[in-house]
Amino acid sequence: MTVLAIKQLVVEVWGEEILHGVDLVILSGKVHALMGPNGSGKSTLSHLLMGREGYVVKSGEVTLDGVDLLAMDTSQRAQAGLFLAMQQPIEVPGVTLEALLSEVLADSEVATAETGDGEATQTLRQIMYAEAMKVGLDPSLLDRSLNTEFSGGEYKRSECVGMGVIKPRLGIFDEIDTGLDIDSLKLVATRLKEATSAWGMGVLAITHYSRLLDVLTPDLVYVLLDGRIVDCGGPELVSAVEHSGYSKYGVDVNR
Ligand code: ADP
Ligand code: MG
Repeated sequence: MTVLAIKQLVVEVWGEEILHGVDLVILSGKVHALMGPNGSGKSTLSHLLMGREGYVVKSGEVTLDGVDLLAMDTSQRAQAGLFLAMQQPIEVPGVTLEALLSEVLADSEVATAETGDGEATQTLRQIMYAEAMKVGLDPSLLDRSLNTEFSGGEYKRSECVGMGVIKPRLGIFDEIDTGLDIDSLKLVATRLKEATSAWGMGVLAITHYSRLLDVLTPDLVYVLLDGRIVDCGGPELVSAVEHSGYSKYGVDVNR
């Protein structure tokens, strides 16, 4: 089992403290939901975990199976099996998803899970095509420049294609449901859920909505508020949050 353990993490972004002591554990094969109001630091946590520039750890620790994740650069974290589907796409004109993924796969050290289903005999193109079909992405989009001409929903689905090819040990999905229509949302949630059993991927799903989690069914739900985890529980926490918002944590709904 792979364990990502975050302990008392304090993070500054460009000089401002955003996370004030976050404790969180992500396990392979399990689904973890991270909820919280706008500006509570959810995306900050996801960027920090991937090692984005400008995100500085003031104290606390993050370990991946006991190894210091914070000592690794972004590519080493990816090689160790960490994957981030960002909330906002990064546009890469002139580079297709296929070109990007073939670079990733050429790096043989990337820790992808063994599926044992003979995928190695398939070409990257074939795997991408199959992954695109699973999330309802028009395969002709695979030939376009990465994210530059994609709609929000297409971007989210192309991230899932990347995930299906790379087969990360732990995947962080930051508002993967934003911009997806209801049918696409079900396909994406189903694909993520499948990945937890197919190769034991651990999921951290950052979301505001139960409609993703109805299908993805989290094992653990965390609530992040103003840079701190203020609650943790089972799936029942999702409906409680959706029903009454964050007022029970002292958030002023009229702010
Ligand atoms: P969430 O994803 O929970 O909505 P974010 O992590 O995006 O929240 O933002 C948390 C806080 O950090 C917000 O107050 C936001 O304005 C601030 N913040 C995010 N990115 C930056 C940045 N690059 N520079 C300065 N402040 C930032
Ligand atoms: Mg965010």
